[in-house]
Amino acid sequence: MEGGGGWRGAMGTVGGITRTYGLQHHFARPDLENPPQDISRALLLRIGRYMWPYGLKWLAILACVLTSAGLAVLPPLCVGMIIDQAIPQGRTTLLALLAGAMVALALAAGLIGVLQQTLTVRVGQGIMFDLRNELFLHLQRMSLHFFTRTRSGDIVSRINNDVNAVQGAATGTLVSIASNIATLAATSVAMFSMNWRLTLLALAVVPAFYMPSKVVGGIRRRLSAQTQESQAHLLTFLNERLHVAGALLTHIFGQGKNDAQAFSALNAKVRDLNIKQSVVGRWLFMILSVFSAIGPAAIFWYGGYQVLQQRLLLGQLVAFAALLTLLYRPMVQLASVYVDVQAAVAVFERIFEYLDLRPDVHDKPQPLPLPQTRGHLVLDHVGFAYPLPPRLPGQDQTDPVEPEPEERFAIRQISFQILPGQRVALVGPSGAGKSTLTYLVPRFYDPKEGVITLDGCDLRDLALEELRRHIGMVTQETFLFHASIRENLLYARPDAGESLMIDACRAANIHDFIASLPEGYDTLVGERGFRLSGGEKQRVSIARALLKDPAILILDEATSHLDATSEYLIQNALEKLLRGRTSLIIAHRLSTILSADMIVVLQAGQVVEKGRHEELLALHGLYATLFAQQFGKVLNLSGENGLHKQGVWPNP
Ligand code: ATP
Repeated sequence: MEGGGGWRGAMGTVGGITRTYGLQHHFARPDLENPPQDISRALLLRIGRYMWPYGLKWLAILACVLTSAGLAVLPPLCVGMIIDQAIPQGRTTLLALLAGAMVALALAAGLIGVLQQTLTVRVGQGIMFDLRNELFLHLQRMSLHFFTRTRSGDIVSRINNDVNAVQGAATGTLVSIASNIATLAATSVAMFSMNWRLTLLALAVVPAFYMPSKVVGGIRRRLSAQTQESQAHLLTFLNERLHVAGALLTHIFGQGKNDAQAFSALNAKVRDLNIKQSVVGRWLFMILSVFSAIGPAAIFWYGGYQVLQQRLLLGQLVAFAALLTLLYRPMVQLASVYVDVQAAVAVFERIFEYLDLRPDVHDKPQPLPLPQTRGHLVLDHVGFAYPLPPRLPGQDQTDPVEPEPEERFAIRQISFQILPGQRVALVGPSGAGKSTLTYLVPRFYDPKEGVITLDGCDLRDLALEELRRHIGMVTQETFLFHASIRENLLYARPDAGESLMIDACRAANIHDFIASLPEGYDTLVGERGFRLSGGEKQRVSIARALLKDPAILILDEATSHLDATSEYLIQNALEKLLRGRTSLIIAHRLSTILSADMIVVLQAGQVVEKGRHEELLALHGLYATLFAQQFGKVLNLSGENGLHKQGVWPNP
């Protein structure tokens, strides 16, 4: 990391005039996007809490920094003594000693540099490790609402980019401040003790460094913001287009050429902005190089005059000029420290923003345990409205002056119960609130009105983790991790043995297929399971649910029309999965509807009818209409006995 060691590259030129003064480092650091704001004590204390566990390492780093600063002023003094004493007085032993000392000093400085770097990186990486873990744990606990509102790219970027920036921003800045102050102090003492007049002359040039830094710094900050934004666009574009589903769309709609052009345009923007940034940095470097020549020139002019007057020794003048390089560099770097501190704080603030998000579904202080459940679910006047979008960075922002939209209830006044082991089928038109209702049972959301109880306990009083342990979910779209089939299955129950896993797969009618694969259960399923067919994925997810063996099952039946064999295999697997479990099913299959103990018909978030199939048909209401729309043809074509297995409820 550059913070403490980046500028050290300029140190080797004892007696020479080094012109970079660490400026390249200064311009390589991440700039602030926002204007500096006041940093509160509380914020600093909070940042300090992350540094605290590394207290001993910080002390060791400080010791390294101080020693380095002390050692840095010694080589110029050796040069002075060589010129003023060893050479004129012909003292060869002293000459050899001083030359040897210079090598030894360089070696010592180098070794301390390595130690300091090791410690700094350890501290930086340690803080990053802690932050990443804390963020992941925290975000895991966020409710579904957070994930539906936040772009996944933003979440990943916080955990990755922002946390990575901590190392440079926090440890780099702190070490840089410490080492610059130490170098400045040591150099000033050495210079004043040699010649206070020359020191004052050297300091007179300092203000000239600040003006161009300020102007060019401003331009660069703006450019940096634009660059990051265009890089984010480029990344989003890449993420979407090179994702399996995105790539499929590109192929299907034949947009390859257009996408390539769009990508090239975004790419060009990133290229141009990066070039501009580098060139602007170089201009400042050029201007400051000129200024940095003025100081030593003035010293040589005035000091040379004093040497001629025999008021100063030549060696002292050379040593002084060398010390000057040590003085200017920390001066310039400290001028930028305020911005550096702001940058470091800004990075932490972005991370804290996420850490401060409170999950809207959480455990009560003393949640009730739920070791066993009978699976008796009661919904009593349940209502739920999706929360309004929070104003979070990385989310679609609405105009702050725009009035808040009214909360719209997705479901309202829902009351019914599912007795242990019963099947309840939810049917209704698209957008009626069927999925929303199922999300309330595992507490992905909590109801805004009414109450849901399990075995007589309000779900909100139960320990979240224990409640979810008793609930299995098979969704329409099967999500599989990019891992082996085995890993995907055992995700539901890591302690399950091989035989349990195989039994579950047998019951789900997928074992024979898996066994026929060359790598069997070790076959990688590909991103999101794209290497398996739709029907195979569904059966793997049924096997996964079987393995979990929950008392309550939530099932969103797939609407995709599979071939008769596939459909049969799935239906047969589902039948085994549902047996003996309390189940809430968003039903699409005729067989499910017919076998349900109760059918709940939803419309616009309200229960409009409920009962068994025959009762509902007799009502000649919404259910009868939907049923006729979907199955009328099938029934007419194939007669009463034609309730074959492919019948499905309306597609949403
Ligand atoms: P489908 O059969 O098409 O899946 P559904 O009956 O399951 O529909 P839901 O998905 O529960 O319907 O949606 C009910 C209502 O809530 C819809 O008006 C929908 O637009 C809205 N809705 C769903 N999810 C969200 C969300 N995350 N934020 C805001 N509104 C939502």
